[in-house]
Amino acid sequence: MYDVIIIGGGPAGLTAGLYNARARLKVALYERLAPGGQVLTTDWVENYPGFPDGVSGFELMDRMKNQAERFGLDIRSEEILRLDLSQSRKLVITGKEELETKAVILACGATWKKLGIEGEERLMGKGISFCATCDGPFYRDQEVAVIGGGDTAVEEAIFLTRFVSKVHLVHRRDRLRATKLIQERAMAQEKIEFIWDTTPVGVLGETGVEGIELRNLKTGVMSMKAVKGIFVFIGTIPNTDLVRGRLELDGNGFIVTDDNMQASVPGVFAAGDVRSKIFRQISTAVGEGATASYAAERYLESIHELMS
Ligand SMILES: Cc1cc2nc3c(=O)[nH]c(=O)nc-3n(C[C@H](O)[C@H](O)[C@H](O)COP(=O)(O)OP(=O)(O)OC[C@H]3O[C@@H](n4cnc5c(N)ncnc54)[C@H](O)[C@@H]3O)c2cc1C
Repeated sequence: MYDVIIIGGGPAGLTAGLYNARARLKVALYERLAPGGQVLTTDWVENYPGFPDGVSGFELMDRMKNQAERFGLDIRSEEILRLDLSQSRKLVITGKEELETKAVILACGATWKKLGIEGEERLMGKGISFCATCDGPFYRDQEVAVIGGGDTAVEEAIFLTRFVSKVHLVHRRDRLRATKLIQERAMAQEKIEFIWDTTPVGVLGETGVEGIELRNLKTGVMSMKAVKGIFVFIGTIPNTDLVRGRLELDGNGFIVTDDNMQASVPGVFAAGDVRSKIFRQISTAVGEGATASYAAERYLESIHELMS
């Protein structure tokens, strides 16, 4: 019987694990890939405090993993396939075993929707980004493309105008989906050029982005824009298949929690990108991982008091 099982080894899960292991709880963290989460897909992180010159995504996550392991966190390379949260003793099921735990911390993150076009995998984190706050400053006085037409895409395009010389906003329809006010702000921005009815079909460049190939969906005409960065905002998919129908989720499928990261079932906590919230960053994931671990400890104390 575990005290806590953490699902996901990104910044949120590793931080929760560090705290819970250091508090001497019986805790295990399950990660289906290499520990590190989405940060492993970015070359360089400039906005995580404590690294004034920036740090590579790999190094940052390697340090987080080593720090958690130093305090005894048991990190296992396995995917959690099923959960049973219906009893106070929760069941966590992998392909090999069924584990019992008193509390669960869901730190399974989210997956940005990809374009699925030639060159995207090769240049992911090397010019293709899902985060203007994180990567915008790398493109000072350069031209970039933003893909998407919803609130996030248009807000991020506006944000990018602080740094870049031009934003080519590529949208597959002939009008934006973003709210009117945000649209008006974008239209008033001289640095944003709208490319309507168009979809990207390929990314050019070997070691860094050199350009983007486009196809007009109405005319079929192909074109190319020379850009150094491509920001993709066509939606995120929360990794919540495990808990759909078992926990309260918001309209986009993210887990709803209270301020202490407690989800809608007692003893189940969520932290990081998988939560319903407004800002998905390493620093927010880390803070929520710490809060979730502390809330889980308090929950364990409360059930021990009830039993004694
Ligand atoms: C390209 C890119 C660049 C970024 N750059 C920055 C940046 O510079 N600064 C910044 O602050 N933020 C950046 N971000 C955002 C940041 O990476 C995320 O906000 C952060 O990683 C969220 O952490 P997390 O622990 O919640 O989730 P994740 O990092 O998504 O980790 C979740 C983990 O859970 C695992 N998992 C999911 N389901 C299961 C399961 N069933 N069983 C086992 N394991 C499972 C996944 O494999 C994954 O490793 C960037 C994101 C991307 C994609």
